Amino acid sequence: MPVRFGKLGSNTGMSSTESADCVVVGAGVVGLAVARELALQGRDVVVLEAADAIGTETSSRNSEVVHAGIYYPTGSLKARHCVAGKRFIYEFCAERGIECRRTTKLIVATTPEQVGYLEKLKAQGEANDVHDLRMLDAAEARKLEPELVCTAALLSPSTGIVDSHGLMLAFQGDAESHGAMVAFETPVVGGAVANDGIVIEAGGASPMRLKARTLVNAAGLGAMKLAHAIAGIPQASIPPLHYAKGNYFALQGRTPFSRLIYPVPEKGGLGVHITIDLAGQARFGPDVEWVDALEYDVDPRRADVFYAEVRRYWPGLADGALVPSYSGIRPKIVPKGAPNPDFVIQGPEAHGVPGLVALYGIESPGLTSSPAIAQHVARICAEMS
Ligand SMILES: Cc1cc2nc3c(=O)[nH]c(=O)nc-3n(C[C@H](O)[C@H](O)[C@H](O)COP(=O)(O)OP(=O)(O)OC[C@H]3O[C@@H](n4cnc5c(N)ncnc54)[C@H](O)[C@@H]3O)c2cc1C
Repeated sequence: MPVRFGKLGSNTGMSSTESADCVVVGAGVVGLAVARELALQGRDVVVLEAADAIGTETSSRNSEVVHAGIYYPTGSLKARHCVAGKRFIYEFCAERGIECRRTTKLIVATTPEQVGYLEKLKAQGEANDVHDLRMLDAAEARKLEPELVCTAALLSPSTGIVDSHGLMLAFQGDAESHGAMVAFETPVVGGAVANDGIVIEAGGASPMRLKARTLVNAAGLGAMKLAHAIAGIPQASIPPLHYAKGNYFALQGRTPFSRLIYPVPEKGGLGVHITIDLAGQARFGPDVEWVDALEYDVDPRRADVFYAEVRRYWPGLADGALVPSYSGIRPKIVPKGAPNPDFVIQGPEAHGVPGLVALYGIESPGLTSSPAIAQHVARICAEMS
């Protein structure tokens, strides 16, 4: 099929253009971090985003926690990128005046059997280059958080919270001030691998075709669908997609806690934890609900499980204090019951397509890891050019 290039949408500010150096699909925190990194390295970057604004999907449906990097297998992308991303985010936010606070976090054991798990977690964190973790007995933990009931706790001083929208705006701003363009309402609907790049077709109000020398698929929950829609990407290289929804309930009234409180993790997530937003409001979640469709309503009946889970470490939680809040959906590449997989970041050695970098399964700690994921992607792009 001959390649026909149409006009780029007028919102990109580009005239009728045939090709682009780097096209990033998706303006979530990962796509924006990648666009920033590539633009800072002098690449010409166009970001194509289906929605009408940045970060409307998973990047605005999470706990906004800057994770320390404790839980993940040593040497995994999650471990390495989380620790590097955390350092970047604290420095970057301080420099730019983006709200970010090292709230610290307690991971709590509520049975004697779980204490051994905390010891293992501490060793895991240390192997991952997180060296400030401290085991606390019940009395020490209660001194920090008087309403907490636990057998022991692991204190993580480098865990915090961040204004994720502020972070994304700063990534977008840096990318744009280094020449990148972000085109909104521009869903990429298909394409084909060509000899010297990847031709992509975008829909929306101004449909177009564009040939990208480098294409970065940072479409989050849409990454698999996008990959399947581009002819020439080997199907075997595209992982399956499963939705693991995480529901949140907000706490009405004041929280007695000044730091984040996490239980020992459950399969598929980190357990129903207490996070505090930058305004000091507490919320609980996310749980893990395997669903078949992208649907974000929070079922109020799930509150019963939340009360039971939270009261294991905060018996003082009053009846009627929890109200349904919001939810996010984890782009899982494994089905329910399987061990948590690593991030998937594929360059040509993985899929055989020159010019393509594909990101799959960028679930937690994807927000924290985003700057390091961006550097990883930029390294692959540099090797390809
Ligand atoms: C419940 C929950 C809690 C979490 N908590 C934390 C946390 O506390 N800390 C942490 O570090 N991480 C957390 N995460 C993980 C983190 O939120 C994600 O890893 C991160 O936001 C993923 O960003 P993204 O840019 O890959 O995806 P998204 O934010 O989903 O962005 C993808 C973008 O691509 C666009 N798109 C999709 N398809 C197309 C297409 N065909 N054409 C054009 N555009 C397209 C979408 O509109 C979207 O804007 C959590 C995740 C969940 C679900």
